[in-house]
Amino acid sequence: MSNKIALVTGANKGIGFETCRQLGKMGFEVVLTSRNEGKGEKALSILKKEGLNVHYHPLQVTDLNSAHRLKDYVIHTFGRLDILINNAGVFLDEEESIMAVDPGIFQSTLHTNLFGPFYLCQLFIPLMVQNEYGRVVNVSSGYGALRNLDSPNVGSYKLSKVALNGLTRLMASAVNDSHVKVNVADPGWVHTDMGGPSAPRSPQKAAEGIVWLATLPDDGPSGKFFYDKKVTDW
Ligand code: NAP
Repeated sequence: MSNKIALVTGANKGIGFETCRQLGKMGFEVVLTSRNEGKGEKALSILKKEGLNVHYHPLQVTDLNSAHRLKDYVIHTFGRLDILINNAGVFLDEEESIMAVDPGIFQSTLHTNLFGPFYLCQLFIPLMVQNEYGRVVNVSSGYGALRNLDSPNVGSYKLSKVALNGLTRLMASAVNDSHVKVNVADPGWVHTDMGGPSAPRSPQKAAEGIVWLATLPDDGPSGKFFYDKKVTDW
């Protein structure tokens, strides 16, 4: 794995940070990205002290220009990308009914959780197809299951993750004759700033399922939704 390049979005903390750590420990060269440079550099220095081969580049996933700058950096520095983890996400409407949710929250949730992965898939998957290798993991949620749309709360977040699941299938089908696999990981309810202190699952456990999808063999699945390394209905 030592010559493979992996990139993780929203990786200054939480599940994204732990995913960088596990990929680094497996011998991947990892590009840790974050929207806040100070927080990203801090996270980078922790992983570097652990002896991991990690780089930093800023990325605001809602900004297409920022995504283009990241692509230029990746091409210039490595010439390719093998693994893309679309992990960055926001959860802004926990208590709100879809009827009452602020339209600004609705928009920023969709922008971060759906448009961000869309921009990065469009920019990086063609590079992977060209290089004849690629693994994309979109980090979704149990809230992204269609059955959860039958209650009105958490509407922006749920819809963003339902759409992310749909995007995954569309992207997988667009490249199904290539060596690129695009899948969804549901990390479970995780003890992070987003999941809160009552969440039963550790970021380490959540990252395991993501890393497993990021390292699927050539005959592995594509366009599927996974929870704990098992295909699940959504
Ligand atoms: P977290 O601790 O809140 O971390 C979220 C990360 O995303 C942070 O690094 C944050 O950056 C980054 N981010 C947010 N908006 C961004 C943007 N516009 N551009 C770039 N980065 C951005 O959350 P987490 O629990 O690790 O969640 C990671 C993923 O797992 C998310 O997609 C989430 O929806 C999903 N998930 C989490 C749970 C859970 O229980 N925790 C459950 C299901 C799914 P800042 O530090 O700058 O805010």
